Amino acid sequence: MTNDLLVEMPEIWQQTLNWQPNEQQQAQFQQLYELILEGNRQLNLTRITEPQEFWEKHLWDSLRGVAPQGKLIASLEAGASVIDIGTGAGFPGIPVAIAAPNCTMTLLDSTRKKITFIDKILNTLALSNSKTLIARAEEIGLQRQYRQNYDIALIRAVGTASACAEYALPLLKQNGLAVIYRGNWIESEKTALESAVNQLGGAIESVEQFTTPISNSVRHCLYLRKVASTPGNFPRAVGITVQKPL
Ligand code: SAM
Repeated sequence: MTNDLLVEMPEIWQQTLNWQPNEQQQAQFQQLYELILEGNRQLNLTRITEPQEFWEKHLWDSLRGVAPQGKLIASLEAGASVIDIGTGAGFPGIPVAIAAPNCTMTLLDSTRKKITFIDKILNTLALSNSKTLIARAEEIGLQRQYRQNYDIALIRAVGTASACAEYALPLLKQNGLAVIYRGNWIESEKTALESAVNQLGGAIESVEQFTTPISNSVRHCLYLRKVASTPGNFPRAVGITVQKPL
């Protein structure tokens, strides 16, 4: 199989997200893929390295989260300020920053070596709308500079849904949107999440289930709206969010 993502399915982008990458964006996706393959040799970044799987599970999945009901969130193009919490090798934040060059993207991770790697990606791709931050979500959630500062918070594969809500909601402006990317989700989890989200000044706006376009895997995205300010005691100290879930 070729390592070339350039041939990948413009019609699937169009049908599923009502959007297609332009030539520059397609080239940036390709460069991102090559840099991740290269980085994987030193850092254990991802086990997803086959081109089709990378396209589906990293590129498509990242963008599907910011396309509720199959349409990219309009505010992204209108300059929304976005944070990707626990971005790892840059997902979902980097594909979103490529697809929406007018948004401003902060890529947050607590691991320095991952952020150093992302800095290299941002440079190579000339992604001037994006910057990195080494910190824990629990710390910056209490700092004036970051608290209530973002329109959209993205969070994929970082913890339980209620931990993700506790990381994300304090960082959002009033009326901001948190997108929690999940593989499995069962309706009975909703009651516990609802109670956590209410305490944090949020509301569950919707839960979407969809299947990925190539392997037909089931995915979920939880959309939380910030409807009131988050009480000052959240997020709780590092570790508590995980040990004593809301
Ligand atoms: N979001 C990426 C993805 O979906 O491919 C990476 C997921 S990886 C499993 C989880 C990442 O979250 C790790 O890079 C870890 O360092 C980071 N992380 C975990 N807890 C965090 C926290 N409280 N604040 C900031 N980063 C965190």
